[in-house]
Amino acid sequence: MNKEEIRILCAHGVPEDMVKRFTEEIGPVEVLPSDDEADIIRAIQDKHVFVVRSKPKVTANVVMNAPNLKVVARPGVGTDNIDKKACEARGVQVINSPEASASSVAELTVGLAIALLRHVYPSCYLLKEGQWAKNKYTGKTVEGKTWGIIGFGGIGRRVAEIVKALHAEVIAYDPYVKDEEFTGKGVKRAMRLDELLEKSDIISLHVVLNKDTEGLISEEAIQKMKKGAYLINTSRGKVVNQEALLRALDEGHLAGAALDVYDTEPPTDVSCLRKENLICTPHIGGSTEEAFVNATEILINKLKAIFRLGEGVPIGY
Ligand code: NAD
Repeated sequence: MNKEEIRILCAHGVPEDMVKRFTEEIGPVEVLPSDDEADIIRAIQDKHVFVVRSKPKVTANVVMNAPNLKVVARPGVGTDNIDKKACEARGVQVINSPEASASSVAELTVGLAIALLRHVYPSCYLLKEGQWAKNKYTGKTVEGKTWGIIGFGGIGRRVAEIVKALHAEVIAYDPYVKDEEFTGKGVKRAMRLDELLEKSDIISLHVVLNKDTEGLISEEAIQKMKKGAYLINTSRGKVVNQEALLRALDEGHLAGAALDVYDTEPPTDVSCLRKENLICTPHIGGSTEEAFVNATEILINKLKAIFRLGEGVPIGY
């Protein structure tokens, strides 16, 4: 099959560089002007690939009205906006690139922890207000602390590598990973979540969101954390009981927290986030130039394999 035969529809908001690379490597691209479903259905008629980000919704209606569609491609991780049942029913493949942003999310996680431990955010704010608060903010190092990782997949493992280089002791909890994976990374395995909660000075969350991990960090779990510990969530908002977390920050049970993800995005009530010991970022964990480049190249390789580009396989494969 030749690349000119594959037609691609890119959602509004897909970065220009990504559009350029798809055009160079796969085939002609049309970019949608908006997320409007009627526009999508109009434009998707002759397309074989639909590239989307966390928006728009790829509904059953879109999939059923896309007679030539073979692949929905999502640069990044979450495919929650894609009706996968409808795709399966129509034989449309859904592909993504979860491995593309592991280092980006891991680096933000560690950066947020250091910013919390060193009071970067409040001291920067005061300096810009004209106050030289040098003696107010004595920080802590990551070195010598116990860092607990919950969810030892792609991102959790990268966090472990970085944190070990900072000379922290790393323990991790993940019931679905083999012992060798922990020992291979020089990480102590926590057999129970409680063990990790009780031992860690800093905890970072890297689980996928599913029915078992929703609310995993409950009020009870937060109370089991050490007094003065720190919690970093760059996974999914619903993994943490956010109200209980904010209470634990107010009551001083936790020394600090950092959130990149929320129950609802964007959060409906930001007033409760205005705390000196809370850093919040707007779900930017995977938003780096490098992650976009990685995601593009991973998806291009997957599409080349699916369409057997250059091998003369007909589009209907
Ligand atoms: P992954 O699938 O590689 O790893 C997830 C790990 O969680 C797996 O090893 C799995 O065994 C483990 N797990 C599942 N249920 C568990 C449980 N009950 N207790 C403990 N561990 C459990 O995923 P990843 O690519 O490392 O992503 C981790 C998280 O980061 C996901 O929630 C993902 O959506 C999120 N993420 C966020 C951003 C961002 O911009 N902030 C970007 C990319 C990914």
